Amino acid sequence: MASVEVRGVRKSFGAFPVLHGIDLMIEPGDFTVIVGPSGCGKSTLLRLIAGLEDASGGDIVIDGDVVNNVAPGGRDIAMVFQNYALYPHMTAAQNMAFGLENTRVPKDEIRRRVAAAAETLRIQPLLDRKPREMSGGQRQRVAIGRAIVRDPKVFLFDEPLSNLDAALRVQMRIELAKLHHQLKSTMIYVTHDQVEAMTMADRIVVMNEGRMEQAGRPLELYHAPRNTFVAGFIGSPKINLLPGSVQAIGSEGVTIALSVGGTLAAQVVPGDLRPGNEVIVGVRPESLHQASGSEGFAARVDVIERLGNETVVYASLPTGETIIFQDRGAGSIGIGSTVRLSADPEHCHLFHKDGTALSR
Ligand code: ATP
Repeated sequence: MASVEVRGVRKSFGAFPVLHGIDLMIEPGDFTVIVGPSGCGKSTLLRLIAGLEDASGGDIVIDGDVVNNVAPGGRDIAMVFQNYALYPHMTAAQNMAFGLENTRVPKDEIRRRVAAAAETLRIQPLLDRKPREMSGGQRQRVAIGRAIVRDPKVFLFDEPLSNLDAALRVQMRIELAKLHHQLKSTMIYVTHDQVEAMTMADRIVVMNEGRMEQAGRPLELYHAPRNTFVAGFIGSPKINLLPGSVQAIGSEGVTIALSVGGTLAAQVVPGDLRPGNEVIVGVRPESLHQASGSEGFAARVDVIERLGNETVVYASLPTGETIIFQDRGAGSIGIGSTVRLSADPEHCHLFHKDGTALSR
């Protein structure tokens, strides 16, 4: 188990800046998931930690040592890639043992470690097969096995489940979480899939355009997003973001006149907010409920998704934008009907016009 610290790390490819100064502390044994949209710089950050790229500025610190000038092989880390990167002419067992063969680890010990990793990953029957004789999920297990036998200080995963079908991804997600629980190693995992992040992470780091937007425990990011980007990225279906202006500030919270008509109230600390200020209200689909009278705001139902365990409704606002909410009324809503929606003030997030959140 080792800590990993990223201190003021910058990276440019030629004149093109990709990372603008990342500061991150990963505690020993933590499962940290770095998540963000395609191109935001997640893989580059992981490759810098691995030593596969050099930083343009700042330090990478593993277990207290600055490793900027240490080659990847000397960093005691193992990386698992999206494309598995197995040698096609070697069996699973040979692929797993390969990284250790030129080290001082004795042959018996290598055999023991391969057998133990195969048992952990339940791939004993595959040990004599070559990659072309295995499914994608099996290859990915072998790739993970190759990382385990090295018994590294830190595991790095770069979108390891992206090439697997949806059902296998769910299964492997659970297995990776179990593996982390069993090995208790420091793991850093990169994905663009916020569901993977929410389900596996001890701590999530949300990145956007080469910057870190927020780091925290999954539910902390869900319930207290620092800005509209994090609010929109974490959570599925997505949070609804409704522009409006402050109508009144009272002891109960802030009442907002929505641009689409109607009002919502948010229980936040108003700070220097004044009536008339432009703001954005964030409401998650599960926090919206059908309202009576003149409460809330109106929307016209377009699509109803009955998923069995929940019903998700997509409705149009007078401005043409879509609002998403969960229907708990056991199928009482019809397509084309108009509904009034509202939310409890404690479930409404409030953001300044520039996207930064007001605290609760
Ligand atoms: P994805 O989820 O699509 O893999 P990412 O968040 O991991 O995206 P990176 O792969 O880190 O993003 O890439 C960040 C930016 O850096 C992109 O604009 C990419 O085109 C650029 N980039 C990455 N590697 C290089 C390279 N070797 N040379 C030039 N530009 C690069």
